[in-house]
Amino acid sequence: MPDIVMYTKTVCAYCDRAKALLGRKGVTWTEINLDLHPERREEMIERSEGRRTVPQIFVDGKGLGGSDDIHGLERQGKLDRILGLGGHTVAAPEHHRVLILGSGPAGLTAAIYAARANLKPAVVNGIEPGGQLTITTEVENYPGYPEGVQGPQMMADLNKQAERFGTTYLNGTAVDVELSKRPFVVKLDGGEVVSCDALIVATGASAKWLGIESETRFRNKGVSACATCDGFFFKGKPLAVIGGGDTALEEALYLTNFATRVTLIHRRDQLRASQYMQQRAIKNPKIEFLWDTTVEEVVGTPHDGVTGLKVKNVKTNATSTLAVKGMFVAIGHEPNTQVFKGKLEMNDLGYLVVQPGRTYTSVEGVFAAGDAADHIYRQAVTAAGTGCMAAMDAERWLAEHAG
Ligand code: NAP
Repeated sequence: MPDIVMYTKTVCAYCDRAKALLGRKGVTWTEINLDLHPERREEMIERSEGRRTVPQIFVDGKGLGGSDDIHGLERQGKLDRILGLGGHTVAAPEHHRVLILGSGPAGLTAAIYAARANLKPAVVNGIEPGGQLTITTEVENYPGYPEGVQGPQMMADLNKQAERFGTTYLNGTAVDVELSKRPFVVKLDGGEVVSCDALIVATGASAKWLGIESETRFRNKGVSACATCDGFFFKGKPLAVIGGGDTALEEALYLTNFATRVTLIHRRDQLRASQYMQQRAIKNPKIEFLWDTTVEEVVGTPHDGVTGLKVKNVKTNATSTLAVKGMFVAIGHEPNTQVFKGKLEMNDLGYLVVQPGRTYTSVEGVFAAGDAADHIYRQAVTAAGTGCMAAMDAERWLAEHAG
């Protein structure tokens, strides 16, 4: 048996995950809890070449890193050899009472409630950890923030809040789900397999694209769906935003901080956005509107990136070229529910169907919250609300059905 040493702290979700994996491998280890032995903190930092996070795991004196590192070794099939186990033993899937797919406001609120109900939930972070709010700027309409709050900050706070009550986080995205029998099994893109008694789907939605060939060709070379991520690169340049909803106006307003001019291109002559956002955009001298217009082609060169947009007036069919250095697409979202096709009931647009006023999906024990099941409201606060409902529904369902 190798000599395994793990430095931990008393409240440490990643330590629990690492211990659970080693436990499933059937090995034993010496635990050094730094809350009980603060004098050994410096020793850990020195042995791990400066790392200041727990757990830190050593096998025969060699540092393996933390929980994510040993899970990574397990995915690569290398952990058994390091632990001195003959052959590759397939560890039983890591099992959770409640597994939450998605780490936006819905997923993290579900995690807070499930964790406080002592269900030790695990959250699969998904493609966009923190969800859509991590690529937005100021959130002004979430109750309780009179001065507004930055989206990424709010998500970082929610993440910490859920972790404080015992939530663990798994990096990755669900690529396959087995929902026809219990426990449910979820396969992640890194190869990791997890199982659960109750599943909460909070996978959210992702930005839609126009779907024209030149848009793909110039992606990241002037074509973007995230003003807060990429606006900075277009200082002193003319830009265009496509769409007529709140997102489009928000992106346009944000881009006025950098651009010389922002042209909002909308396919109709009426905006879908809220009155408040419309007024702000209309008042802004840097924003101009191109009504009844669609983008036919993104024009540019591999060297210069985007140089213009070929646009068409849908009423007159007249075409023209608008000189811009960047196009920001803000035409709405589609739900991230592809993995549930044929497994959970969904509507024509791919949004999961839940029982009216509840979060129950078509499969018992599977609950849905947030944008994945909401094509109407799609707000951070409604997502958080349904996240709370999903955790409460899951808790009650587990009490009645899974002991
Ligand atoms: P949205 O409200 O669905 O608006 C999408 C816009 O894109 C519409 O104007 C639509 O045109 C246009 N569009 C859709 N497909 C298109 C295509 N293929 N080509 C050209 N244009 C196309 O989406 P959203 O703006 O992302 O907003 C989603 C939700 O989040 C809404 O409930 C919104 O209120 C909310 N939100 C709120 C805030 C805030 O309060 N601060 C900020 C952002 C978003 P049509 O109008 O012709 O359909």
